[in-house]
Amino acid sequence: MIGFDLEDEHKAVEKAVRDWAAKEVAPKIHDLDREHRFERGFLKGMADLQLLGICIPEEYGGAGLDYLSLGLVSEELEYVDTHLRVIMSVHVGLNCMSLWCWGSEEQKRKYLVPQAKGEKIATYGLTEPNAGSDAVGIQTTAVKKGDRYVLNGEKTWISLGDVADNFLVIAWTDQEKKKQRDHSGLSAFIVERGFKGFSSYTMKEKWGILAGNTGGFHMADVEVPAANLLGKEGEGFRIAMFALENGRYTVAAGATGLIRACLDASVKYAKERKTFGVAISEHQLVKEMIAEMVSDYDAARLLWLRAGWLKNEGRRNTRETSLAKWFATVKSERAASDCVQIHGGNGYSDEYPAGRFFRNSKAAVIYEGTREIHKIMQADYALGTRQDKPRRVELPPYRR
Ligand SMILES: Cc1cc2nc3c(=O)[nH]c(=O)nc-3n(C[C@H](O)[C@H](O)[C@H](O)COP(=O)(O)OP(=O)(O)OC[C@H]3O[C@@H](n4cnc5c(N)ncnc54)[C@H](O)[C@@H]3O)c2cc1C
Repeated sequence: MIGFDLEDEHKAVEKAVRDWAAKEVAPKIHDLDREHRFERGFLKGMADLQLLGICIPEEYGGAGLDYLSLGLVSEELEYVDTHLRVIMSVHVGLNCMSLWCWGSEEQKRKYLVPQAKGEKIATYGLTEPNAGSDAVGIQTTAVKKGDRYVLNGEKTWISLGDVADNFLVIAWTDQEKKKQRDHSGLSAFIVERGFKGFSSYTMKEKWGILAGNTGGFHMADVEVPAANLLGKEGEGFRIAMFALENGRYTVAAGATGLIRACLDASVKYAKERKTFGVAISEHQLVKEMIAEMVSDYDAARLLWLRAGWLKNEGRRNTRETSLAKWFATVKSERAASDCVQIHGGNGYSDEYPAGRFFRNSKAAVIYEGTREIHKIMQADYALGTRQDKPRRVELPPYRR
């Protein structure tokens, strides 16, 4: 049996987030975006709703809900503004879910519990000035000295980089393998902002997701306890990809919410604005843009729901999640562009939300695997040149 209805629990989550974002965020977002201001109070609001540990089990400080709930939250948050969904992506998708699945009991008690409760904020540091898509091109090193690793390097384009308390950092522990670009020489570490030698900054020239914080950090001889190695030495690349699979899922659901935001804004404006004696909604070429948003929204939503269902079942979803992310982000970019178009000259002004949607939509076809990387992945699956290999650690199925 296939069912297309959300369960009552899902509807309750969706409504709670929708109501909170409409009341607390929507009235402020225009000004925050224009002033490039990150509102820390939203983190508290999200924590109070248990969103920052939504799918983390209760024993580790989370809400213990399923992966569909994570998607629904992501969609509702990005409907109001992308920066809120980005918090879910990096804090929950990339960081908390990785700690939950790959972390030792001690690491989970020390780091995951406060993060899932929203007492500490976390993010993910893979990208560097000279390497994004090409993860093995990173230069950060981690050299073992007794019971510590000494980390040196710079991470850039890090969401919440100047805000987060804890960072999941990917670095080379095997310098020979670094030279050979063999990813089994990479390892993952939990790094605290308070560690000596750590310093962060905010990227001021960014032109989208302006109410969000994006930054970078330097590590100069940062001593990280050996107990903060996540997984085993040499598992950093696998952990990084595992994390991205969960982050991408939230990006897919979020971009779906952005399509809906574009659709709603376009419908409203098209009914109000008149040209040639009629509302512009009566012009077929305007209807075409709206119709594309409708079909893209439904298709994007079905794709992320399928990925979420596979996660709930404990089934591999690398291909389906990549497809959902690629499709939703490309379509949200188009929806945002058409939303500006429907608003005409007014779409080019920050008086209306269309311009914010347009700027925000562009980032999602870049992060968590660019549009091109996902296209290649999908072609390679179809051509049989890419197959998913079993992993030592998998995302657990959802059990009530
Ligand atoms: C707003 C924002 C937030 C971000 N947050 C984070 C974060 O929290 N943590 C983090 O680690 N990173 C983050 N990133 C970084 C992001 O993941 C990278 O920008 C992304 O992976 C692309 O890497 P790059 O910028 O180095 O581009 P490059 O990898 O240099 O790519 C440049 C262009 O070349 C294309 N290209 C590259 N390789 C290929 C190929 N093999 N085939 C075809 N085309 C190719 C790309 O698709 C792209 O069009 C963020 C980025 C942005 C914009």
